[in-house]
Amino acid sequence: MPALRRKIYLSPPHLDVNELKMIHEALQSNWIAPLGPHVDRFEQEIAASVGAKGAVALSSGTAAIHLALRLAGVQPNDKVLCSTLTFVASANPILYERAVPVFIDSEPDSWNMCPSALARACADLERRGELPKAAVVVDLYGQSANMTEITRICSHYGIVVIEDAAEALGALHSGKACGTLGDFGIYSFNGNKIITTSGGGMLVSDDTEALERARFWALQARDPARHYEHSQLGFNYRLSNLLASVGRGQLVNLDRKVMLRRQIFQRYVDRLSHLPGVSFMPETIGDRSTRWLTALTVDQAEANVSNIDLLNALERVDIEARPVWKPLHRQPLFDGYAYYPYSEEQSVSDELFSQGICLPSGSGLTEEEQNEVIDTILEVFEKGNQAFRQKGDWR
Ligand SMILES: *Cc1c(COP(=O)(O)O)cnc(C)c1O
Repeated sequence: MPALRRKIYLSPPHLDVNELKMIHEALQSNWIAPLGPHVDRFEQEIAASVGAKGAVALSSGTAAIHLALRLAGVQPNDKVLCSTLTFVASANPILYERAVPVFIDSEPDSWNMCPSALARACADLERRGELPKAAVVVDLYGQSANMTEITRICSHYGIVVIEDAAEALGALHSGKACGTLGDFGIYSFNGNKIITTSGGGMLVSDDTEALERARFWALQARDPARHYEHSQLGFNYRLSNLLASVGRGQLVNLDRKVMLRRQIFQRYVDRLSHLPGVSFMPETIGDRSTRWLTALTVDQAEANVSNIDLLNALERVDIEARPVWKPLHRQPLFDGYAYYPYSEEQSVSDELFSQGICLPSGSGLTEEEQNEVIDTILEVFEKGNQAFRQKGDWR
């Protein structure tokens, strides 16, 4: 029977009153033009919030990754390292530049890029004289990668690190903000992210000269002249002033939004972690995840139910849940590109994909809604284990 309530989404936008005030002001001041005071302020506020020297507001997180790859000097046929367990947007910009992605498996501790698989890839590529120019390292579901080790390895080989912190605005690694741990960091303000401008992104770095170039490219690379003069290829990648005003309103509540997502995660843990075969995504010691999405794995051998059973049951009652990202080395789009697994016997990302599920985690999720998600899951486990016991009686 369909539930008599609104659909529970995975991570819908969560608006407050600030955004309305800000957007009203932006409209009243007639700054509808692409650029304006809110863009500058939003950049300054993000940079200050994460402790970066500068920031460039862009039309998407994907655009930010693209410009970071160009700043890293990536050319056609260059190799670019990339986490495999992520959204396709982490790797698409590598193809925009006609470069060649090399995918790196996850480690069990953080679910993020495995430093030893990365070191193996670097050594291999160096032997072949194909050292990558850049690495796109993802902070999955708001949990930082082991950036201390990863940046050490990359700097040894002179590889530029682009930290894809699209899901990790407000997360920390060893006390430093995610997004500021590599040479360049990117955030996304898509509708489902920690804060949103409906669509938007940000490139951050301590290299303010590089950021100036990104800003120039993002405005169609217009050379300084009264007429329209162009000596370089540019893009239309700037964030509009109107959307920047929404972002500023959202940013005020960043800490609260992260706290709410972490509370949601904790409530899932409190009520579901006793179930057989259930393991929640870990948080590495000394780090703080945003818990953008609550992710967990279900070991069917122990649980007698699978992640697919849970996805089906939740879908039936109009609750949106998702499998963990399908690894990029499994995507038809990236067929034939190199992949470095965790070990010869084990591909961690494949295991996480086959067992993983992400639960509704939006910072606006009510306790009542969350209880429905939890009760639906408990019911699946109860039924699964009843069936199992009956099968046992038969024998
Ligand atoms: C959302 C996301 C992106 C892309 O951001 P957009 O703003 O949607 O372009 C990139 N990487 C990861 C890991 C993401 O989750």
